[in-house]
Parts: sequence; C-alpha cells; structure tokens
Amino acid sequence: MGSTLRIVNGRVYDPANNVDGKTRDICIKDGKIVKSVPPKTKTIDAKGMVVMPGGVDIHCHIAGAKANIARKLQPDDHRRDVMRRLDLKKINTRSGTGGTVPSTFTTGYRYATMGYTTAMEAAVPPLLARHTIEELEDTPVIDKGFYILMGNNVLLYQMLQEGRHEEIRNAVAWWIDSTKSYTTKLVNPGGDEPWKGHRNATITQLNDKIDGFEQLTPRKIITSMVSAVEDLGLPHPVHIHCNNLGHSGNYKTTLETMKAADGRRIHVTHIQFHSYGGKPDENPTSKAPAIAEYINNNPNISADVGQVMFGKSTSMTADAPLAWMLTRYSSDQRWVNADTECESGCGIIPFAYQEHVYTHALQWAIGLELFLLSKDPWRMVLSTDHPNGGTFTSYPRLIRTLMDKEFRKEQMNSVNQKAVAKIKRAHHMEREYTLQEIAIVTRAGPARILGLKNKGHLGPGADADITIYDEHEDKELMFSAPRYVLKDGKLIIDNHEFKNNHEGKLLHVSPDYDEGIKDVIRPFVEDFYTIKFDNYAVSDNYIHHHEVIPTTK
Ligand SMILES: [Zn+2]
Repeated sequence: MGSTLRIVNGRVYDPANNVDGKTRDICIKDGKIVKSVPPKTKTIDAKGMVVMPGGVDIHCHIAGAKANIARKLQPDDHRRDVMRRLDLKKINTRSGTGGTVPSTFTTGYRYATMGYTTAMEAAVPPLLARHTIEELEDTPVIDKGFYILMGNNVLLYQMLQEGRHEEIRNAVAWWIDSTKSYTTKLVNPGGDEPWKGHRNATITQLNDKIDGFEQLTPRKIITSMVSAVEDLGLPHPVHIHCNNLGHSGNYKTTLETMKAADGRRIHVTHIQFHSYGGKPDENPTSKAPAIAEYINNNPNISADVGQVMFGKSTSMTADAPLAWMLTRYSSDQRWVNADTECESGCGIIPFAYQEHVYTHALQWAIGLELFLLSKDPWRMVLSTDHPNGGTFTSYPRLIRTLMDKEFRKEQMNSVNQKAVAKIKRAHHMEREYTLQEIAIVTRAGPARILGLKNKGHLGPGADADITIYDEHEDKELMFSAPRYVLKDGKLIIDNHEFKNNHEGKLLHVSPDYDEGIKDVIRPFVEDFYTIKFDNYAVSDNYIHHHEVIPTTK
C-alpha cells in the first residue's frame, strides 16, 4: 500500500453510484478509492473487461467449531481436493484442502480467486467466538465477520420471561461487544432449547409455549430481539433463520415471522428453505410466489435466497432438530448432533442434492423462482447458505443460471419433471438477470444490507476491493476466473494468476452497554457454564487486524 493505481477503459458496474456499464476510470490510493491520482500513476488497462466491486457474501459457514467438526467428519472429501502451497517468490501461501467445507486457507484463496473479498460467517455460539476468530484470522485475503446465536440462550429466556427488557438490551450489547461479533442471529428461535431437553416435536409455531418457560413463545423471542438490535443501532438487523426450516407448509411460519417484525427491519436468511407449501410429512410444493410478493411489498424485509445447487453439500446448522430430521433423508451414515451449553444446538450431516429427486429438484426451482420474482434485487441477494445448499464455489454457475434462460431451460428439462412441471411454464422463467443486477445481488446489495458503507461500491472512500472480469458469453466461465482482483488496493490476482497474499480484517461492532449487566451475567455463567466468566469475553488484545463498524446511534 502507500501506492496509487488507476484502472482505465473498463466497463464499470457500480449500482450504488448509479453506474451501469459506462467506461470510467477508477483511482486508488492507500487501499481506498479516490477521485483522482497523479497522471503518471501505474495503470491497469481493462479494455473489453467488466469492473465491479469485490463480492460480498452475506451468509456462509466457513469457520468455527461446527466447520471444524464437519471437516473432521469427511476425510474422503479432502483427499479428492488438495490445494498445494504456491511456490512463488516472496509469497507465503499455505496448503489446504477443499471439498464442501474447505480448510481456512483454501476458503480465503478460493473466495479471492472468484472475486469475493468479504464473507460473513453466519452462526457462532457466543461461547465459541474465540475459536471462530482464530479460524477467521487464519482465512487469508478476505475481510470477514460473524453473527452470534441468540435465539436459544437460556439466560436471555429468563430475562424475557420476567420482562427485563432493559437488561436484555444491555446483555445483547455486552455479548456482541465481548465476542467481537457483528450482529445477532436467531436460528429456530425457541425451538432448539426444548428439543435438546426431551421433547421430540420438531415443528414449532410462533405462539407455542416453550417448555420450562411458560410465559415465552418464539414470537416473543423474535420481537424482543428485533427491538434490542434496533435500539442498539447495529448496522445489520437481526438475521433470522425462521422456525420449521425444510418442513412442508413452513411458508406460513415465514410470513408470520416477517409480519411479526411489524415494519421494523429484519433479514430473513436462506429463505428458499422456508418457502414450502403442502402438509407436514407430505411432499412440499412451491410457495415462492407468496413469499416473493410479501418481500416485494415490504421494504423493511431483506433476504438471501439459499439456493440449492446439485451435487455434494454439507448440512451444518445450529438448528439441531432439523439436523435430526435430515438423518431420515440422507444416504450417508455419518451425522453429528452437538450441544453448546445454555446457548445453542448444532447438527452436521454430509448431504447430496440430486436432480432426479422430487424434493431436491423442487428446492432448486424454488430458489430460482425467488430470484426471478424479486422486484428489488437490493433486498433479495445471492447465497447458497454455503455449504448447506451448495458450496460458494458454485456461485458462478448460479450466476449463469440467472443470466442465461436457455441454460436454465436445459437444466429444467433434466431434473425431476413432476417437481418443476408448474414452475417451468411460469412467465417469470423468461427473465434474465443483467450484469447490473448481478452486481447488486452479489456485492452492492449485501454490503448495503450489512450496513458496510465502504464495501460494495466504487465511489471515493470505498475500500479498494475490486474485481475485473473478462467479458464472456459463458457467464459461469466469466465469474469463476476474474482477470484481476484487488483487495485493499493490492493486486491479489494478476492476469488470472494468484500473485499476492493478504491479511483481511475482522469486521465487528462494539455497541455501548451499562457495565452493571456483567453483574447479572456473571453469576449465571459461574453457575451453569463450564468456563469462568472472566475467561468468557474475547479481550481487545486478542484480535489483530480488525475494524470496528460504527452503530447508527
Ligand atoms: Zn446458514
């Protein structure tokens, strides 16, 4: 850094600044985009190329305890996909393995070589934040952050049961600050904790009473967390994995959850998995049109799709009852169900989505419907819930499926026809995403939803995270191998080759709270956790390269 660079002659797609394919110069100084640089500055000639901000992944599972268990569970996945150390002068890259849950090093390099420069790990029990930070620091090139699980937290349940709302807000702030995390995540709120005890039911309604907490319902957990996060001014709202993921008929729960927000902002994640009609325990149907319509009409809601891609995946989730249900549908004998004391559950199952299976083909088609019915790409952004619906390395294929209707039709014709019969003929299946829309759903939209003001655009002040693609008819090819990738102004990919390693930052939020809340949390941790309260928080000197993203308060 400390240097300047100018990108010239490229066609720039920068939707946040209303630039749609115009030829513009992009100037870079000290890792940031600036208005101008001296005339003699080094240039990259991007003639015939497409220039976009670096990709931003709003929801993936790439680090921490569950990723580690998933890696250990599948040695077969690693031996087929070994990434060797790059033997280049002055560059210290590390070897690793890929598969559906790549090693930390491989994760960072592969995101970067695809033109993605920021990724958010979506589900971390607060107690395991330290482990997650260790792995994220080990993940090269990209910036990253993580969301902490708060939907099945026993101490918060107690506070909520007793109506201690002021304390809830302070506790949430303490948890965000002391784990160095980004926002709160609700996974099957009110569903995991009772399931871990003794109840076998896996379906939860928003007004169900929670075992052991008679005054409490999933609805109360959701609305109190929405209030707490709004009061704290976190840059990203509550990130919600709704109840009843994967169950036929769950679209009603999803609509109810969105309505429960009552006009306040929420982000509903991998919404494809929550858009199913039909009766419980019978085959699902598509309710994508109802879900898309609700989101189109309600600007307080944002979502990522959680597209299913055919092939190998790994289901890894904090939704322990869901994992238990999935064991019925997986041909793989291996699975893990784990508990994180007082905070969360966890389940992991190797999985494979197959074209000929009715449900898998339907899930794939529902994801596409959500994309194609979305009227506001800023609020319906791209994800595969890596590695749950498919791995992040399948994004280029997904992009081609959205941009190329003939390619999409070919695939439609080769999957289970019973599943896609209705969907195939729908008018929206003719839509093709433009490059500008792709720039929105893969970078500008996620950055805006995350409240990352320096990401997802190419205006002055933005981080110089930039991807330059050769324009190509085959969009899968185009988006899988950018010609140049810059991270913080540094050339990581130069002429398709990995040239420089880089250390990305941890992005986290540090909201204010009343110090008195520690006296409330301390005795609970001392009584019920296996570690002492004084060892719980991640201290400031534990994290190295990081950036505090300001709250809006
Ligand atoms: Zn997820």
